[in-house]
Amino acid sequence: MKITRIASHVLSCDMPETLGYSQQYYRRRTAHLVEVETDEGVTGWGECFGPGAVAVANKGIVEGVIQPMVLGADPLDRDVIWHRVYNLLRDHGRKGMPLQALSGVDIALWDISGKVAGLPLHKLIGGAHRNDVPVYGYGMMLRPERVSELAARFRDEAAAVREAGFVAAKMKLGLGREDDVRLAEAVRRGVGADFRFMADANHCYTTGDAFYVGRALEELGAYWFEEPVAPEDLDGYRELRAGLRINIAGGETEFNRWGWRAILENRGLDIAQPEVCALGGISEYLRVLALCHAHHTPVVNHVWGSAVAVATNLHLLAAMPTLPGGLNPWEPMLEFDTTENVFRDGLLVEPLDIQGHVKRNGGRVAIPTAPGLGVSPDRDFIRRYEMA
Ligand code: CA
Repeated sequence: MKITRIASHVLSCDMPETLGYSQQYYRRRTAHLVEVETDEGVTGWGECFGPGAVAVANKGIVEGVIQPMVLGADPLDRDVIWHRVYNLLRDHGRKGMPLQALSGVDIALWDISGKVAGLPLHKLIGGAHRNDVPVYGYGMMLRPERVSELAARFRDEAAAVREAGFVAAKMKLGLGREDDVRLAEAVRRGVGADFRFMADANHCYTTGDAFYVGRALEELGAYWFEEPVAPEDLDGYRELRAGLRINIAGGETEFNRWGWRAILENRGLDIAQPEVCALGGISEYLRVLALCHAHHTPVVNHVWGSAVAVATNLHLLAAMPTLPGGLNPWEPMLEFDTTENVFRDGLLVEPLDIQGHVKRNGGRVAIPTAPGLGVSPDRDFIRRYEMA
């Protein structure tokens, strides 16, 4: 079997409202799908992390840089292809966009491998440690509003996430430390005293401000404090983890096994959040997962993007061994965006319907069982949203 073509599809649409996180507000949603075609008619789908103009530039890397390196190769030689591309791009980018681009291609090769074998991705990896996974709902995004309005909105949204059946809720931070504590208090009021919630700063704090907010989150009983400081600030991470009685989570912006080795050896994370569509695809995710577990660091995958990314992560979460195990082991969760996302809910011929699973199954979603990723993107949908 040979790879005959690699195509990128960058989908884009206006969102119904302006949303934000600690770095920016935005009004357009993007998704970057990768399609790998073969001479035997089997097609694989993957996805690259990266919004907007980043997706457009990554499309250039996928089609213009990676495609010529792998045309004619056997798509089942995933690891050979990964290292050929990585080694040839090493001098030009060991992190960032080249790895995001490679991720989409690698995921598509795993999809092809599953389809050829007639096995779902989790079976190809080694089997399902669980047949369903709990889902947490993130929302509580920033809006350009006064803090009092936003706090009321966060309270109501947090209550709605719990009402919808999710097992936990995650909020954004980013107004500044005093206002952020007000938002976190509002989320606690919204979800009630006995419900798990997490807070995501998207690396907007100095270490000092992160301690201020982190102590408030401790008092509120938050489960984790995500990306408190800049990803380059390994010392800050280590000091926060040693000084706060709340789980420190992070890692979504890190790439490949070497980047992750540095994070893990630094001992700054309680919970690792690798992003499979960015760090180097499934091949590299499995190596990073092994590294995390070698450091006894539990993993909750970072999930963002379309139904292709969500399906990929469902398989990976199913195939994740328990750490350290037991009758009632610690469980990972699926990260799920509760804001409107047409590229997740409208892309597939048969939608994943995560919200329906969550509502009906006590906050849990079943793992797909069809070969490969088990998803079929709707080509008419892709044509409708694809950027020219
Ligand atoms: Ca995050």
